Amino acid sequence: MGSFKKVLIANRGEIAVRVIRACKELNIASVAIYSEADRDAYHTRLADEAICVGPGPSNASYLNIPNIISAAMITGADAIHPGYGFLAENANFAEICTSHGIKFIGPSPGAIERLGDKATARKIMEEAGVPVVPGSSGPITCVEEALEVAHAIGYPVLVKASSGGGGRGMRLAHHPDDLVKAIRTAQSEAEAAFGNAEVYLEKFIEEPRHIEFQLLCDEHGQGVYVGERDCSIQRRHQKMLEEAPSPAVSEALRREMGLIAVRGALAAGYTNAGTMEFLLDRFGNYYFIEMNARIQVEHPVTELITGIDLVKEQIRIAQGEELGYLQEDIKIRGHAIECRITAEDPERDFLPQPGQITYFQPPMGPGIRVETALYPGYVIPPYYDSMVAKVIAWGADRTEAIARMKRALAEFQLEGVKNTIPFHQKVLDNAFFRKGEVYTNFIQRRVLAEE
Ligand code: ADP
Repeated sequence: MGSFKKVLIANRGEIAVRVIRACKELNIASVAIYSEADRDAYHTRLADEAICVGPGPSNASYLNIPNIISAAMITGADAIHPGYGFLAENANFAEICTSHGIKFIGPSPGAIERLGDKATARKIMEEAGVPVVPGSSGPITCVEEALEVAHAIGYPVLVKASSGGGGRGMRLAHHPDDLVKAIRTAQSEAEAAFGNAEVYLEKFIEEPRHIEFQLLCDEHGQGVYVGERDCSIQRRHQKMLEEAPSPAVSEALRREMGLIAVRGALAAGYTNAGTMEFLLDRFGNYYFIEMNARIQVEHPVTELITGIDLVKEQIRIAQGEELGYLQEDIKIRGHAIECRITAEDPERDFLPQPGQITYFQPPMGPGIRVETALYPGYVIPPYYDSMVAKVIAWGADRTEAIARMKRALAEFQLEGVKNTIPFHQKVLDNAFFRKGEVYTNFIQRRVLAEE
């Protein structure tokens, strides 16, 4: 396959802008798609061409496969970049792209399907020698089986949805009595959110860190890890702040986990950029939890410490190029932190705040990168995710990265809608955060419980 001449970006917001920029740098023409609510969106204006694919609600536009494929055919796009969310991990969409002669910039439909089902992914990884969280081998078929597995691995246990994502369909059980109820609620939540009620069991790991490895695999069987990210700062199992490298990962552990992650990905037939997520407990044990078959929100922290442009790598790999470098060529320099700024009101349980941006002055200066599609006067539509900007800070070390992030957030002027900048400032000032003592219950235990 030769170089792409034109790429359609099946997404919106900051990630659509990020991909359009990569296309421009590679001299590839870009096609934006937009909903009627996004006529004036930045990504719509930034691309070389833009096509409306339907009304505001995602189901009618950004998830509307026939309209998106038609847009690609009409504009003559050779490839589609799905970004994250929407259709990024939809195997059916990847398959339809392929059958229309459009390259899907991501893994094969088969790999997406294998990894998208988390119970199946656990099995594949177990067989490849990747440590997984103790739990059921495959989905739970009846309550008796669940009770047996839970008894064997020990309480507390977590009921998780096979098609889970965004922390939904997950329920904790401390006793056999809770378990029956947890299964029912997880099942109905999973059915409502993903149209699949299947659940599986995992031992609940107490106070773990969320450590994930960025992977790049070409279509010629070569794979590398591009360091790890620590995403332990979460609210309701959703990431808020990410950093790289992890303060808890030594050079030796990085190498060990990284090589295992690459092995697991290759065993799953994985290609393109992907992320393998692990939980790391206090004793240094690590367990696979899932693999994300897409570019992730937090990819910039990895880019800043390695100098690798992950989105351009995705495009290069999809063009059939070889990686062209080895594991030992990838070097980590300094430290990077990302804060996800959402238009939500932390005072009102993070209620989304659509509305008009009346004043907008993003931070700049040494070591600061901002990924956003906002501009002054922009009206945030009510239909989509509430993340409106990512502020990423690089420093020679963690202390400098934190200092720069604090400086940047203080500079950031974002008016018109309530947002999470003040909340992030609290996290950055927290003594435990500053020491790098962060676990997935950090927000609950060290921030919200203190208020
Ligand atoms: P999702 O796909 O919904 O994001 P994940 O499996 O990636 O779900 O888990 C999201 C978060 O939930 C993890 O980062 C961690 O904080 C928590 N979590 C998941 N599995 C476990 C577990 N077995 N023990 C403790 N916490 C867990």
